[in-house]
Amino acid sequence: MKAAPEAQKRLLDLAELDTGLDRLRHRRRSLPELAEIDELSKRLAQVSTQIIAAETEAGDLARDQAKAESDVDAVRVRVERDQKRLDSGQVSSPKDLASLQSEIVSLRRRQSDLEEVVLEIMERREAADARVATLKSEREEVTGSLHAAEDRRDAAFAEIDKAAGELTSGRSAITADVPADLLGLYEKMREQTGVGAAMLHGGRCLGCRTSLSIADLNRIRAAAHDEVVRCEECRRILVRTAESGL
Ligand SMILES: [Zn+2]
Repeated sequence: MKAAPEAQKRLLDLAELDTGLDRLRHRRRSLPELAEIDELSKRLAQVSTQIIAAETEAGDLARDQAKAESDVDAVRVRVERDQKRLDSGQVSSPKDLASLQSEIVSLRRRQSDLEEVVLEIMERREAADARVATLKSEREEVTGSLHAAEDRRDAAFAEIDKAAGELTSGRSAITADVPADLLGLYEKMREQTGVGAAMLHGGRCLGCRTSLSIADLNRIRAAAHDEVVRCEECRRILVRTAESGL
């Protein structure tokens, strides 16, 4: 392949821009905010699930409490009714009196047991409500951190995309100067090795850092200026400059 030495030298500028673009793409993919956002999103989903579970538990306990309180009320009403009957003096038979008194004692015991149950449920309910409150404040905190991380990611993306846009327009200006066949070879090598063209500097290929053999250097010395030469080691386009050591 043949191409004007000036066009070949433009490939070095192109390679520099492409390396810059690769760096920007890599930076965009590996922003620490991306891992952070991923982590925070997972935590947010987890906390939301925990809130639903805690709210369900608190709701169940509220129902249990209402039920236990109504049980207490029912027993208390019976105690009051029995006590009234006892106080009224209407029950005169000693056997009935004894039975009534014994029922009152047993109902009072039952009422006290049920009140214990209410207290125990209230304690569990308070704990569940506190858990809901703690989880909700954690959700708020995680949401805040998530939004902050998303803002930082978006700002970094905007900065990277702006820089990439500048490099891309610089790239278009360069590719306009490079003949299609040379550009095609450059792109092919870039695809295969990551870098399409490298400078021959002091007898070394700066693409693979290999020192060329005397035979290869002699072959390049003998080649015409517009001949496109390649590194025998990495196959990249080798661009000759004043510092090539030829
Ligand atoms: Zn090489």
